[in-house]
Amino acid sequence: MLRRVFTPYLLIQILILLLVLACAGQWGNRGDEQEQKQVREQEQEQEQVREQEQEQEQEQKQEQEQEQKQEQEQVREQEQEQVREQEQEQEQVREQEQVREQEQEQEQEQEQEQEQVREQEQKKFGRRTDHTSAVKKYCRKIAKKFYYWGWGHSYCQNFQWLHVRNSVLGDPLMWVVFGDEKAHRKTPKNATMVLCSIHGDELTPAKFCFDLMVDLARNFPRFKEQLVIIAPIVNPDSFFKRKPTRTNRRGVDINRNFPTKDWKIAALKLWRTRYHSDPRRFPGKHSLSEPETLFMVNLIKRYRPGKIIQVHAPLTHIDYDGPGDTLNQKALPVNQLLISMSTNAKGYRIKNYPYFPGSLGNWAGNERQIPTYTLELPSSDNRRSKEFWQTFQKAMHTAILFPVLD
Ligand SMILES: [Zn+2]
Repeated sequence: MLRRVFTPYLLIQILILLLVLACAGQWGNRGDEQEQKQVREQEQEQEQVREQEQEQEQEQKQEQEQEQKQEQEQVREQEQEQVREQEQEQEQVREQEQVREQEQEQEQEQEQEQEQVREQEQKKFGRRTDHTSAVKKYCRKIAKKFYYWGWGHSYCQNFQWLHVRNSVLGDPLMWVVFGDEKAHRKTPKNATMVLCSIHGDELTPAKFCFDLMVDLARNFPRFKEQLVIIAPIVNPDSFFKRKPTRTNRRGVDINRNFPTKDWKIAALKLWRTRYHSDPRRFPGKHSLSEPETLFMVNLIKRYRPGKIIQVHAPLTHIDYDGPGDTLNQKALPVNQLLISMSTNAKGYRIKNYPYFPGSLGNWAGNERQIPTYTLELPSSDNRRSKEFWQTFQKAMHTAILFPVLD
């Protein structure tokens, strides 16, 4: 029976079946292995990814650290630069301070020098103590006005003033003489008369005359053979007013008040017609009615100057009245002087300005044939005084040294 069941055929079938089963088992094992491999590979890949990520993270960290370092370095550099700038600024401040100190020292030295010059001048002038009380008082008044107009020291007390009459309000009408007056009386010298501030609102001419006086005192040896008569403030009553005016205290234009031959017939008439009774040009009720006019007339008669220079402002020209004026002869010495005065003042404009009834140019220049030069400064602005003196200093020297004798 068993032999029947286990036939070879069946045995073969069983064997085949076993074989199939074995193979299938092997396949199954193989599938597991593959899976495991895949898992491992995946794990490896993941591991790699993780490693890469870690590397990237590290790189990023490093980069960030480098950036931070760079930033820190920049900050350090900026700080250093700031420190350097601060140091430079401090250095500059130190240098400026040094410059300021040097300037201050220089200023002090200059002040000391000026003080020395002042002392020397006082010695040279032989500071007079015999000024009349009127002159002393008047000099104080002048000094005050000088500071008011920003002109500094007037040196008024240092000059040897002469005075005979007073203005309407009682100020002394003063003048100064440079040179030997006694010798001039015996043998006339080359005398120059300089008159300033005939019109009281012309401020710069007054300072101009004082500048000339200080200049002559300083350089006296050069001019000692000349005679120079200077009246720096001819019209004090209007010069010292709070608001200076052209006319004098009585409202008279003293440069229209000289006793010229045509005064009676022309002065008042011309004033009414041409000037429409302009109060600034009123010639007075009659000629020589004013003490200031009388002062100038007497001064001219006393010294018989070879030439007169009157300083005004602001017409900006030099005018000439006197011999050779109407003929306009350029060859005459008086005209040569006019030209050289202009040349010495950067080619200042020469103008043939007419003279008027009662004017100084008419009375002294035209009628008495005393060469009379009218220097019209460019402005009455008190701040420009220094500039004008610098411009005309040489011209004034030329004029004073120029011999005009008959
Ligand atoms: Zn004038």
